[in-house]
Amino acid sequence: MRAIAQGVQRATPSAEDYDHDFAWTGQHVHQVPPSVTVVGSCNEDVTVAVERLPQPGQTVLGGAALRSPGGKGANQAVAAARLGCAVEFVGRVGDDDTGARLRAALEAAGVGTDHLTTAPDAPSGLALIAVDATGENTIVVSPGANALLTAQDVERALTAARPATVTLVQFEVTPAAVAAAIAHAPGRVIVNPAPARRLPADLLRRIDVLVPNRTELGVLGGASTPVGLDEVEDLAMRLGARALVVTLGADGALVLAGGHVTHIPAADVTAIDTTGAGDAFCGALADAVARGHTVVDAARWAVRVAGLATTAWGAQTALPARADVAGAT
Ligand code: ADP
Repeated sequence: MRAIAQGVQRATPSAEDYDHDFAWTGQHVHQVPPSVTVVGSCNEDVTVAVERLPQPGQTVLGGAALRSPGGKGANQAVAAARLGCAVEFVGRVGDDDTGARLRAALEAAGVGTDHLTTAPDAPSGLALIAVDATGENTIVVSPGANALLTAQDVERALTAARPATVTLVQFEVTPAAVAAAIAHAPGRVIVNPAPARRLPADLLRRIDVLVPNRTELGVLGGASTPVGLDEVEDLAMRLGARALVVTLGADGALVLAGGHVTHIPAADVTAIDTTGAGDAFCGALADAVARGHTVVDAARWAVRVAGLATTAWGAQTALPARADVAGAT
């Protein structure tokens, strides 16, 4: 059976939100401390505002370089921590000042760093970002120490850490590290396949919730980027994931779970900077799934959190605290 439900916010889930993977148990919500382990990247973002993005071979002068903590893994970890989860981070930084700053930023946000190791002979990850006057950007990522996170590191960390309700993974670390995270996660696994690369079918089947954006869905499905909602839905159905949440920017999100397809419209906000909106969404989705919510209700929460994150500048700086989100409990 399949039904398309328009997204109206409800205080409690209705029968149509139940699915076999995420049975609603009532007492689970708010009683078990929500815990999330993030296996992923941390980078220093170096952002320079330019009038026009440089063409190949061209040099342009820009404004002052702004350094801020970033990386999809770190952003998503901070997002979940701001929402009140106990978060552990599994990753690698280099043995340099940047690595020390990245570690301190995670700790300042309340993220556990016992499993953030320091690679002795590698620089920390860097993202070199140019943003033009229209808000368009180009980004070059130098993975540095992130690329040295091994499958053994991940397995060791996931075995040693307090078992988390949700393990959240992105693709800014190696395929071997991603595979180890999926294989050894003690609870639910949420995967944000960004930046996009194809995923072997045996791994796909073990993921509880896959969270691509439109472009990533296209790459995963071996197709061009889907445009309309029907196109997104068709491609998403063909992927065969257990549960899928496709983020659609200003169009909100489409959820496929338990045989239902639900479109959740975006939050009604005036977006001023959508940098890191996807990371806010994934962190919030992990927070709600860790609290025992269904995928559909978790996506409704994530849409509200990500919407709010677009109303402030920056990636980590724009992530809202739980109390800032309307209707938060
Ligand atoms: P990514 O940043 O990974 O490309 P999206 O652009 O799909 O991800 O954005 C992630 C989520 O952020 C969306 O599902 C939506 O909930 C929210 N969002 C993004 N852009 C806007 C916007 N202009 N207005 C309201 N919400 C937005």
